[in-house]
Amino acid sequence: MTTVYLNGEYIPLGEAKISVEDRGFMLADGVYEVTSFYDGVPFCLDRHVERLRRGLACMRIPCDADILDRVSRELIARNGLTEAPTSMVYLQITRGVAPRSHGFPKEPVSPTVYASAKAWERPTPQRWSQGYSAATVPDRRWGRVDIKTICLLPNALATQAALDAGADDAILIKDGVAIEGSLHNFWAVLDGIVVTHPLTQGILAGITRSVVLEVARENGIRVEERPIQVEELSAAEELFFTGTTGEVRPCVSVDGRPVGDGEAGPVTRALSRAFLKRVERVKAGR
Ligand code: PMP
Repeated sequence: MTTVYLNGEYIPLGEAKISVEDRGFMLADGVYEVTSFYDGVPFCLDRHVERLRRGLACMRIPCDADILDRVSRELIARNGLTEAPTSMVYLQITRGVAPRSHGFPKEPVSPTVYASAKAWERPTPQRWSQGYSAATVPDRRWGRVDIKTICLLPNALATQAALDAGADDAILIKDGVAIEGSLHNFWAVLDGIVVTHPLTQGILAGITRSVVLEVARENGIRVEERPIQVEELSAAEELFFTGTTGEVRPCVSVDGRPVGDGEAGPVTRALSRAFLKRVERVKAGR
Protein backbone atom coordinates (compact mmCIF):
# COMPACT_ATOMS: atom_id res chain seq x y z
CA MET A 1 0.00 0.00 0.00
CA THR A 2 1.35 3.42 -0.97
CA THR A 3 1.71 5.86 1.92
CA VAL A 4 1.62 9.56 1.16
CA TYR A 5 2.02 12.66 3.30
CA LEU A 6 -0.74 15.26 3.52
CA ASN A 7 -0.76 18.18 5.95
CA GLY A 8 1.03 16.53 8.85
CA GLU A 9 -0.24 12.96 8.39
CA TYR A 10 1.09 9.82 6.74
CA ILE A 11 -1.95 8.13 5.17
CA PRO A 12 -2.84 5.64 2.41
CA LEU A 13 -2.87 7.28 -1.03
CA GLY A 14 -6.59 6.52 -1.45
CA GLU A 15 -7.44 8.50 1.67
CA ALA A 16 -5.59 11.67 0.62
CA LYS A 17 -8.16 14.36 -0.20
CA ILE A 18 -7.88 18.12 -0.71
CA SER A 19 -10.51 20.82 -1.02
CA VAL A 20 -11.69 21.95 -4.47
CA GLU A 21 -10.94 25.44 -3.15
CA ASP A 22 -7.25 24.67 -2.81
CA ARG A 23 -5.37 27.42 -4.62
CA GLY A 24 -3.14 24.78 -6.21
CA PHE A 25 -6.19 23.24 -7.88
CA MET A 26 -7.78 26.59 -8.81
CA LEU A 27 -4.76 28.72 -9.73
CA ALA A 28 -1.64 26.52 -9.82
CA ASP A 29 -0.57 28.66 -6.85
CA GLY A 30 2.19 26.45 -5.50
CA VAL A 31 5.71 25.11 -5.79
CA TYR A 32 7.17 21.60 -5.92
CA GLU A 33 10.37 19.58 -5.71
CA VAL A 34 11.43 16.18 -6.99
CA THR A 35 14.31 14.62 -5.06
CA SER A 36 16.09 11.36 -5.74
CA PHE A 37 17.26 8.68 -3.35
CA TYR A 38 19.82 5.98 -4.19
CA ASP A 39 19.62 2.85 -2.00
CA GLY A 40 17.59 5.03 0.35
CA VAL A 41 20.30 7.72 0.58
CA PRO A 42 19.17 11.21 -0.44
CA PHE A 43 21.09 12.91 -3.24
CA CYS A 44 21.77 16.65 -2.82
CA LEU A 45 18.72 17.00 -0.59
CA ASP A 46 20.16 20.20 0.93
CA ARG A 47 20.25 21.85 -2.51
CA HIS A 48 16.62 20.89 -3.15
CA VAL A 49 15.65 22.32 0.26
CA GLU A 50 17.39 25.61 -0.56
CA ARG A 51 15.74 25.86 -4.00
CA LEU A 52 12.37 25.20 -2.36
CA ARG A 53 13.11 27.85 0.29
CA ARG A 54 13.84 30.43 -2.45
CA GLY A 55 10.69 29.48 -4.38
CA LEU A 56 8.48 29.76 -1.28
CA ALA A 57 9.99 33.16 -0.48
CA CYS A 58 9.45 34.42 -4.07
CA MET A 59 5.82 33.25 -3.95
CA ARG A 60 5.34 34.57 -0.37
CA ILE A 61 4.03 31.18 0.82
CA PRO A 62 4.64 30.96 4.57
CA CYS A 63 6.06 27.45 4.95
CA ASP A 64 9.39 26.14 6.26
CA ALA A 65 11.28 24.40 3.42
CA ASP A 66 12.95 22.05 5.94
CA ILE A 67 9.76 20.00 5.78
CA LEU A 68 11.14 18.54 2.53
CA ASP A 69 14.06 16.95 4.39
CA ARG A 70 11.92 15.38 7.14
CA VAL A 71 9.00 14.21 5.02
CA SER A 72 11.02 12.79 2.14
CA ARG A 73 13.21 10.61 4.40
CA GLU A 74 10.13 9.40 6.26
CA LEU A 75 8.21 8.58 3.05
CA ILE A 76 11.14 6.59 1.65
CA ALA A 77 11.20 4.55 4.88
CA ARG A 78 7.42 4.11 5.14
CA ASN A 79 7.15 2.95 1.52
CA GLY A 80 9.88 0.33 1.88
CA LEU A 81 12.22 2.14 -0.52
CA THR A 82 15.38 2.20 1.62
CA GLU A 83 16.81 -0.65 -0.48
CA ALA A 84 15.51 0.59 -3.84
CA PRO A 85 18.45 1.41 -6.15
CA THR A 86 16.64 4.50 -7.44
CA SER A 87 13.62 6.18 -5.92
CA MET A 88 12.13 9.65 -5.74
CA VAL A 89 9.96 11.89 -3.63
CA TYR A 90 7.52 14.39 -5.11
CA LEU A 91 6.54 17.20 -2.72
CA GLN A 92 4.30 20.15 -3.43
CA ILE A 93 3.26 23.09 -1.31
CA THR A 94 0.32 25.30 -2.30
CA ARG A 95 -0.81 28.55 -0.69
CA GLY A 96 -3.75 26.66 0.86
CA VAL A 97 -7.54 26.68 0.77
CA ALA A 98 -9.53 29.91 0.36
CA PRO A 99 -12.56 31.13 -1.63
CA ARG A 100 -11.39 31.66 -5.22
CA SER A 101 -9.92 35.09 -5.82
CA HIS A 102 -6.72 36.22 -7.50
CA GLY A 103 -5.45 38.19 -4.50
CA PHE A 104 -3.92 36.28 -1.61
CA PRO A 105 -6.37 35.17 1.15
CA LYS A 106 -7.20 38.07 3.49
CA GLU A 107 -7.07 35.82 6.56
CA PRO A 108 -3.92 33.71 6.97
CA VAL A 109 -4.42 30.11 5.77
CA SER A 110 -2.20 27.06 6.25
CA PRO A 111 -0.34 25.94 3.14
CA THR A 112 -1.32 22.53 1.76
CA VAL A 113 1.67 20.18 1.83
CA TYR A 114 1.47 16.93 -0.12
CA ALA A 115 4.21 14.38 -0.86
CA SER A 116 4.53 10.90 -2.34
CA ALA A 117 7.40 8.49 -3.00
CA LYS A 118 8.04 5.83 -5.61
CA ALA A 119 10.80 3.82 -7.24
CA TRP A 120 12.05 4.75 -10.70
CA GLU A 121 14.17 2.82 -13.15
CA ARG A 122 17.30 3.80 -14.96
CA PRO A 123 17.30 2.82 -18.66
CA THR A 124 19.42 -0.22 -19.53
CA PRO A 125 22.94 0.65 -20.78
CA GLN A 126 21.84 -0.43 -24.27
CA ARG A 127 18.80 1.84 -24.25
CA TRP A 128 20.83 4.73 -22.83
CA SER A 129 23.55 4.32 -25.50
CA GLN A 130 20.97 4.50 -28.28
CA GLY A 131 20.06 7.95 -26.96
CA TYR A 132 16.85 9.93 -27.21
CA SER A 133 15.27 12.01 -29.95
CA ALA A 134 14.13 15.60 -29.46
CA ALA A 135 11.88 18.07 -31.24
CA THR A 136 12.23 21.85 -31.01
CA VAL A 137 9.12 23.51 -29.57
CA PRO A 138 8.47 27.21 -28.82
CA ASP A 139 9.05 28.13 -25.15
CA ARG A 140 5.67 29.58 -24.16
CA ARG A 141 6.26 29.67 -20.41
CA TRP A 142 6.01 32.72 -18.16
CA GLY A 143 8.97 34.95 -17.20
CA ARG A 144 9.93 33.35 -13.84
CA VAL A 145 10.60 29.73 -14.65
CA ASP A 146 13.50 29.86 -12.17
CA ILE A 147 10.75 29.35 -9.57
CA LYS A 148 9.71 25.70 -9.62
CA THR A 149 5.95 26.30 -9.68
CA ILE A 150 3.30 23.65 -10.25
CA CYS A 151 2.09 25.75 -13.22
CA LEU A 152 3.39 23.20 -15.74
CA LEU A 153 0.80 23.47 -18.50
CA PRO A 154 3.25 24.96 -21.06
CA ASN A 155 5.76 22.22 -20.17
CA ALA A 156 3.07 19.55 -20.55
CA LEU A 157 1.94 20.97 -23.92
CA ALA A 158 5.56 21.17 -25.14
CA THR A 159 6.19 17.56 -24.08
CA GLN A 160 3.05 16.44 -25.89
CA ALA A 161 4.02 18.41 -29.02
CA ALA A 162 7.36 16.55 -29.03
CA LEU A 163 5.62 13.19 -28.53
CA ASP A 164 3.15 14.02 -31.33
CA ALA A 165 6.16 14.72 -33.58
CA GLY A 166 7.46 11.23 -32.76
CA ALA A 167 10.25 12.50 -30.48
CA ASP A 168 11.09 11.59 -26.88
CA ASP A 169 11.85 15.08 -25.53
CA ALA A 170 11.20 18.75 -26.25
CA ILE A 171 13.87 21.43 -26.60
CA LEU A 172 12.28 24.77 -25.72
CA ILE A 173 13.22 27.60 -28.09
CA LYS A 174 12.90 31.30 -27.26
CA ASP A 175 14.25 34.19 -29.34
CA GLY A 176 16.44 31.81 -31.33
CA VAL A 177 17.98 30.21 -28.22
CA ALA A 178 17.69 26.57 -27.10
CA ILE A 179 16.75 27.33 -23.49
CA GLU A 180 16.21 23.94 -21.79
CA GLY A 181 14.07 20.83 -22.05
CA SER A 182 10.46 20.69 -20.87
CA LEU A 183 11.65 18.68 -17.86
CA HIS A 184 15.44 18.79 -18.11
CA ASN A 185 18.27 21.25 -18.52
CA PHE A 186 19.89 21.17 -21.96
CA TRP A 187 23.55 20.98 -22.97
CA ALA A 188 25.61 20.99 -26.17
CA VAL A 189 29.19 20.02 -26.92
CA LEU A 190 30.50 22.65 -29.35
CA ASP A 191 34.13 22.57 -30.53
CA GLY A 192 34.94 20.30 -27.60
CA ILE A 193 33.46 22.70 -25.03
CA VAL A 194 30.43 21.72 -22.93
CA VAL A 195 27.90 24.55 -23.11
CA THR A 196 24.70 25.15 -21.15
CA HIS A 197 22.41 28.15 -20.67
CA PRO A 198 23.47 30.48 -17.82
CA LEU A 199 21.29 30.80 -14.72
CA THR A 200 18.64 33.46 -15.40
CA GLN A 201 14.93 33.81 -14.63
CA GLY A 202 14.40 31.99 -17.96
CA ILE A 203 15.61 28.53 -16.89
CA LEU A 204 15.25 26.28 -13.87
CA ALA A 205 18.46 26.07 -11.82
CA GLY A 206 18.61 22.28 -12.03
CA ILE A 207 20.28 20.47 -9.16
CA THR A 208 21.63 17.90 -11.62
CA ARG A 209 22.94 20.80 -13.73
CA SER A 210 24.90 22.09 -10.72
CA VAL A 211 26.39 18.64 -10.06
CA VAL A 212 27.30 18.07 -13.72
CA LEU A 213 29.06 21.46 -13.82
CA GLU A 214 31.07 20.43 -10.76
CA VAL A 215 32.05 16.99 -12.03
CA ALA A 216 32.93 18.41 -15.46
CA ARG A 217 35.35 20.88 -13.85
CA GLU A 218 36.74 18.17 -11.54
CA ASN A 219 37.48 16.06 -14.61
CA GLY A 220 39.15 18.85 -16.57
CA ILE A 221 36.30 19.09 -19.08
CA ARG A 222 35.90 22.67 -20.33
CA VAL A 223 32.46 24.16 -19.66
CA GLU A 224 30.86 27.45 -20.61
CA GLU A 225 27.57 28.87 -19.37
CA ARG A 226 26.17 30.83 -22.31
CA PRO A 227 23.05 30.73 -24.51
CA ILE A 228 23.03 28.03 -27.22
CA GLN A 229 21.75 29.44 -30.53
CA VAL A 230 19.35 27.21 -32.50
CA GLU A 231 21.70 27.41 -35.51
CA GLU A 232 24.43 25.82 -33.39
CA LEU A 233 22.40 22.64 -32.86
CA SER A 234 23.13 21.24 -36.33
CA ALA A 235 26.89 21.73 -35.79
CA ALA A 236 26.96 20.29 -32.25
CA GLU A 237 29.19 17.24 -31.70
CA GLU A 238 26.86 16.07 -28.91
CA LEU A 239 23.71 17.14 -27.10
CA PHE A 240 22.33 15.94 -23.80
CA PHE A 241 19.81 16.70 -21.07
CA THR A 242 20.16 16.57 -17.29
CA GLY A 243 17.55 16.14 -14.57
CA THR A 244 16.91 14.44 -11.26
CA THR A 245 15.46 11.20 -12.61
CA GLY A 246 16.86 11.58 -16.15
CA GLU A 247 20.42 12.00 -14.75
CA VAL A 248 22.61 12.54 -17.86
CA ARG A 249 20.43 11.74 -20.88
CA PRO A 250 21.94 11.70 -24.39
CA CYS A 251 20.03 13.51 -27.14
CA VAL A 252 20.93 11.99 -30.49
CA SER A 253 18.59 13.66 -32.97
CA VAL A 254 16.80 16.99 -33.28
CA ASP A 255 13.75 17.37 -35.53
CA GLY A 256 14.71 14.15 -37.32
CA ARG A 257 18.35 15.13 -37.98
CA PRO A 258 21.07 13.06 -36.27
CA VAL A 259 23.48 14.73 -33.85
CA GLY A 260 27.13 13.70 -34.38
CA ASP A 261 27.17 10.01 -35.26
CA GLY A 262 23.62 9.51 -33.92
CA GLU A 263 24.40 7.84 -30.63
CA ALA A 264 25.59 8.84 -27.15
CA GLY A 265 28.95 10.58 -27.63
CA PRO A 266 32.22 10.40 -25.65
CA VAL A 267 31.75 13.63 -23.65
CA THR A 268 28.19 12.69 -22.67
CA ARG A 269 29.49 9.26 -21.62
CA ALA A 270 32.33 10.77 -19.60
CA LEU A 271 29.97 13.17 -17.82
CA SER A 272 27.45 10.41 -17.14
CA ARG A 273 30.22 8.23 -15.64
CA ALA A 274 31.45 11.15 -13.51
CA PHE A 275 27.90 11.90 -12.36
CA LEU A 276 27.30 8.26 -11.39
CA LYS A 277 30.63 8.21 -9.54
CA ARG A 278 29.42 11.22 -7.53
CA VAL A 279 26.22 9.27 -6.74
CA GLU A 280 28.36 6.37 -5.48
CA ARG A 281 30.39 8.75 -3.30
CA VAL A 282 27.24 10.23 -1.79
CA LYS A 283 25.88 6.72 -1.13
CA ALA A 284 29.13 5.76 0.59
CA GLY A 285 28.84 8.92 2.74
CA ARG A 286 32.04 10.51 1.39
N1 PMP B 1 14.31 22.23 -16.26
C1 PMP B 1 13.01 21.96 -16.09
C2 PMP B 1 12.01 22.76 -16.85
C3 PMP B 1 12.61 20.95 -15.21
O1 PMP B 1 11.30 20.68 -15.03
C4 PMP B 1 13.59 20.19 -14.53
C5 PMP B 1 13.21 19.07 -13.61
N2 PMP B 1 12.44 19.49 -12.54
C6 PMP B 1 14.94 20.50 -14.74
C7 PMP B 1 15.26 21.53 -15.62
C8 PMP B 1 16.03 19.73 -14.05
O2 PMP B 1 16.14 20.07 -12.70
P1 PMP B 1 16.71 19.05 -11.63
O3 PMP B 1 18.07 18.66 -12.10
O4 PMP B 1 16.74 19.82 -10.36
O5 PMP B 1 15.78 17.88 -11.60
